[in-house]
Amino acid sequence: MNDGPQLDGGCRCGAIRYQATTEPLDVTNCHCSMCRRSASAPFLTWIKLPVDGFSLNQGELREYRSSDQGVRSFCPDCGCQILFHDLSDTQFVYVTAATLDDPESVTPDSHSYRVDGLRWIHIDDGLPAYDAEEPQ
Ligand SMILES: [Zn+2]
Ligand SMILES: [Zn+2]
Repeated sequence: MNDGPQLDGGCRCGAIRYQATTEPLDVTNCHCSMCRRSASAPFLTWIKLPVDGFSLNQGELREYRSSDQGVRSFCPDCGCQILFHDLSDTQFVYVTAATLDDPESVTPDSHSYRVDGLRWIHIDDGLPAYDAEEPQ
């Protein structure tokens, strides 16, 4: 039995199923251009987990090296982005909050790379906004 938090999620087509088994360390809305293009969306919300707090329970992710230090993983069938790995800090993994079965079970606490954000996205949620990564 696992009596810690358990966040289930998966891709759009259902081929990928995953589970987060530890409390998120951080949840941020990232407005950087790489997240924007990789998600085809104005920004992406990331849950930061210890790497052993994530388990892929069904399907196989395809990886894409998106920058010098970034690897993004997505469903090869429907293209849904699931994970980000930072190769310079491999003890953590980042999961797309929007792919949770219950995305409202987590709450963002900041905006990252807001300086790169689209001007037609108006955010008035009172959260701290950083011009780069949220300071940890
Ligand atoms: Zn899929
Ligand atoms: Zn980003």
